[in-house]
Amino acid sequence: GRGATGSLVAIGVVKTFAALRAVDGVSLTFNRGEILGLIGPNGSGKTTLINVLTGMLHITAGEVWVNGTNITGWAPHRIARVGLARTFQVVRLFHEFSVLENVEVAALSSGRIPRREATARAWEALERVGIAHLAPWPAAALPQGEERRVEIARALATAPEFLLLDEPGAGLTEPEVETLLATLSTIRRDLGCGILIVDHDMRLIMRLCDRIHVLNYGRTIAEGTPDEVRREPAVIEAYLGA
Ligand code: ADP
Repeated sequence: GRGATGSLVAIGVVKTFAALRAVDGVSLTFNRGEILGLIGPNGSGKTTLINVLTGMLHITAGEVWVNGTNITGWAPHRIARVGLARTFQVVRLFHEFSVLENVEVAALSSGRIPRREATARAWEALERVGIAHLAPWPAAALPQGEERRVEIARALATAPEFLLLDEPGAGLTEPEVETLLATLSTIRRDLGCGILIVDHDMRLIMRLCDRIHVLNYGRTIAEGTPDEVRREPAVIEAYLGA
């Protein structure tokens, strides 16, 4: 197989929508214990790539390997089972359920957590993102910043090996972004999972990520450390539209 244990490998991934090549031959390797930033201008294919990696969109061409297993074309529930968890740009909670129930449901539906462990897992995840005190609250009553933390807790409760976060910093205040940074660093340190993060907040990305992968019009235009990527002319051009 391609890629060893502890890695997610995408090879030449293509996703088309009619004539549009939203993702146009992207290859990347993402390891456990690593924080990888996925950036690029609006419409460059970031969310589409996450949707393809997690099986929510059917891949047009290319391959995806997780821990040496070819998962290309697998359904989302099967992909979740091998340890890929994601969050959404638009938070999707069951509003009539409590915060704790929302996290328990996610743990159970991943198929990775036995029923008898789901509640403990949910508490642990809520503690990790700093909102255990909100556990009994109805999800509908949460302010936006807290909803995003529940969303991360839902992914964490599945005991992921690879965590894919789609704009976790969107709509957060500056102090909330600082808290998010600290939380994600701690998650990586304590759980050793890989974290792939899409975000528009360049300061968050530059401070948090070990490596950054840059897309433009569905193609990779740069990859490397934050310092390498920051100096890359193609990246400066894509962002400034020069
Ligand atoms: P990003 O996340 O980088 O902003 P997206 O992955 O959302 O970019 O979108 C990439 C391109 O694919 C855009 O041109 C977008 O309009 C298009 N696109 C995304 N989803 C669909 C869809 N379901 N149908 C048609 N076009 C889509």
